[in-house]
Amino acid sequence: MADKTFRLEIIAPDRIFYSNDIYMVEYNTVEGEVGIYADHIPMTQIIAPGRLIITERNEEKQAALLSGFVEITPEKMTILAEAVEWPQNIDVNRAKEAKTRAERRLSSEQGGVDIGRAELALKRAITRLDVAGK
Ligand code: ATP
Repeated sequence: MADKTFRLEIIAPDRIFYSNDIYMVEYNTVEGEVGIYADHIPMTQIIAPGRLIITERNEEKQAALLSGFVEITPEKMTILAEAVEWPQNIDVNRAKEAKTRAERRLSSEQGGVDIGRAELALKRAITRLDVAGK
């Protein structure tokens, strides 16, 4: 169990989403899932859609983290999130519609579909439904 805290700030486009001293944070990057403790070496990472798990002193918080960048410095860790949502703020119907839309594009026989974009949209939708518990 980690016994040392560090500062995590999550900046969303319109607000400071989260700012606190924490023990550990887990999330997904383009290179795979990571878990960060205090005194991590400085680095930058690119977010991939996934569940964000923040371990605080007495509780654990979860959110859907869909895209953005991470910067780890000796002073603090910053997540510049393009999209991040607490479970209760996830619009489940919207995510279901986005999932259906992405699946339809991916199975379409017609040309003109940006496969990478559709795959990412599908991952965002699946992550939102997963974090919302649907
Ligand atoms: P959609 O196709 O429904 O727009 P998307 O995955 O393309 O979904 P994003 O580009 O990830 O959407 O997000 C755009 C903005 O809308 C962000 O502010 C994000 O937090 C918000 N958002 C998107 N989908 C949802 C959802 N299901 N519930 C709550 N907020 C959402």
